[in-house]
Amino acid sequence: MKLGYIQVEVTSRCGMNCLMCPTRLEEWEGSDMDFNLFKRVSESFSNAKLIHLQGWGEPILHPDFEKMVRIAAKHAAVSFTTNGYLIDRLSDETLELCDFVVISIAGASEETHRKIRKCSLKPLIENAKRVNRLTNLKLSYMLTKTNIHELANAVELAANLNADFFATNLDYVFDKMSDELRVFSTPGMEKFVEKARERAKEFGVKTNFPPLEPGEVLVCAENPVENVVISSDGLVFPCVYLALHLNPIPRLFNGKMYYIERRSFGDLNTERLDDVLDKESYRTLRETFRKRLWGLEQIAIWPGTQPRIPQLPETCRTCYKAYDL
Ligand code: SF4
Repeated sequence: MKLGYIQVEVTSRCGMNCLMCPTRLEEWEGSDMDFNLFKRVSESFSNAKLIHLQGWGEPILHPDFEKMVRIAAKHAAVSFTTNGYLIDRLSDETLELCDFVVISIAGASEETHRKIRKCSLKPLIENAKRVNRLTNLKLSYMLTKTNIHELANAVELAANLNADFFATNLDYVFDKMSDELRVFSTPGMEKFVEKARERAKEFGVKTNFPPLEPGEVLVCAENPVENVVISSDGLVFPCVYLALHLNPIPRLFNGKMYYIERRSFGDLNTERLDDVLDKESYRTLRETFRKRLWGLEQIAIWPGTQPRIPQLPETCRTCYKAYDL
């Protein structure tokens, strides 16, 4: 099966303690992927267009991260997302091997960024400049109530760094604090996105902003029909939202708490990725999304028909990604 991307969580450890991130939870079990396991898993990398080396942790913390980039680059395009602080550990050669690097910022001003990340924005900007000299840079910005007022300034920062820019919702909500921080379904937030769009137009920045109101989608942006996630413990999941290192996985959805079993489709410590993807349970999940998409195609071919669109898989019904957020 030809894949879009394989997302490999090389580590689930993170040195930061951001307010909106589940890695701050006491019960979070962070670990590095075994390097020999990574080497074995890399035998499947040629099946994908892109290998994205990141999950819930900070990938550069893995002691073999540079070797991993080199291995992955032999098979497919490579990218990773980072909080930007450890980039000086990486050689120019490693950065040049990457097709793009995403640096996530938590504010456009020192004060706002520091409030969320508890460290300075300045070194991160210097690191971003270096990345941009060596490969393509994207800035990502997770929208929270404490930083959305600086969204337009963050777009301007991307323009100054000659980077693409995309914002994401805080869409994994797991407790009262993360619920209070999210901006979607909150009145008065759209004006900040509008201002950021105007700034992007003015500066010619390539941007992407998420919707702030829910609407069920046929397949979520993670698109498990084409993509796959391998967690740091070698387990295979359709998306990072089911691969959290918590069991059960807590979800606060529309004000109600849900607990989802952390159930993988396979274990690459003992199985091959192709065999896992071929399991009936995994094929059924992908088929459900495929049939949902097929329903839309039927409407395009035969306008006026009312195709039967299967329900979302149960684990997805309480996930904000299924509602385009
Ligand atoms: S809807 Fe959520 S849980 Fe389901 S595949 Fe998408 S991201 Fe994962």
